[in-house]
Amino acid sequence: MNSHMMAAVLYGKEHLQVEPVAVPTIDRGDILVRVKVALTCGTDVKVFRRGYHARMIVPPAVFGHELAGDVVAVGEDVKAFSVGQRVVAANSAPCQECYFCRRGLENLCEDLLFNNGAYAEYIRIPARIVDRNTYLIPAHVDYRDAALVEPLACVVRGWEETAPRPGDTVAIIGLGPIGLMFVKLAKLSGCRVVAIGQRRTQLERAAAVGADDLITASEGLNAVKTARNLTHGRGVDIAIEAVGKPQTWEWAVNMVRRGGTVNFFGGCPNDSTVRLDTSLLHYSEITCKASFHHTPAYIRKALELVCAGHVAASFFVNREEPLANLLEVMRHLMSHNGHLKTAILP
Ligand SMILES: [Zn+2]
Ligand SMILES: [Zn+2]
Repeated sequence: MNSHMMAAVLYGKEHLQVEPVAVPTIDRGDILVRVKVALTCGTDVKVFRRGYHARMIVPPAVFGHELAGDVVAVGEDVKAFSVGQRVVAANSAPCQECYFCRRGLENLCEDLLFNNGAYAEYIRIPARIVDRNTYLIPAHVDYRDAALVEPLACVVRGWEETAPRPGDTVAIIGLGPIGLMFVKLAKLSGCRVVAIGQRRTQLERAAAVGADDLITASEGLNAVKTARNLTHGRGVDIAIEAVGKPQTWEWAVNMVRRGGTVNFFGGCPNDSTVRLDTSLLHYSEITCKASFHHTPAYIRKALELVCAGHVAASFFVNREEPLANLLEVMRHLMSHNGHLKTAILP
């Protein structure tokens, strides 16, 4: 095998280069994967814009975290995988020993190990992720469907933690790939979906995934009133915020019914604050929660949904580009919101 490969290296704010780097060397418990597809992710775009991410990546570093590919080398201690297998590896693995892991909150692990470098010909999967969060892709599943597993796992976990019931009316604010995944899961759970987005194309996509009612968010605060009107003024049973803006967090709280649940799924910029009406929260018994990241159990659930054909890349990925075009792709995704994912083919 070659000693060098092409890989995207993130140097800082809006600064990345696709350049030759050494093919990663692997340790006894690691595997080396030939990346067949890497998907762009809103988090990557955010990291590209800001130049860093406190927990996930510290530049200069190889970049990208949603991938599927083929095993091309295994460390001498690896028993579970062999060369030639098709695999999907999550972007993190928990320590399984800390306070949080022992309580089943592995997404909050104090020592969550993150892995980046999917925008490259090859990626090293470190031993801990090989052991706890790497899975075979069944023959009937495409690489790009399998690569959806990481973001989907976050969404499946967020959805389950919100405790929906069949027949609930669920407002989903924000219709990027994450919001659309929520639309899909809500429909699979037998809920009525009110999809709230800014752009017509996003609303059309939500309808294609199964949304029952569409609200154009550019009508400003009317989104709240419109959502309430759709439920005879009562408010929706569940509101999911998948934008990551303080204003839409407040919308979510204002559109749920008494006793309803809000999930603040979209992370806002650092130091953001929101205003919450305390008597509304108290007298209406509104539950506010947030969900972050995934656990190995949810990666497995997400993979099951993909393997069963319930979730497919065709709804969430609408473009493919060679690795060499990654800088242009990132700039494009940064300058317009409302995009689906791009499949990068290294
Ligand atoms: Zn992601
Ligand atoms: Zn831990």
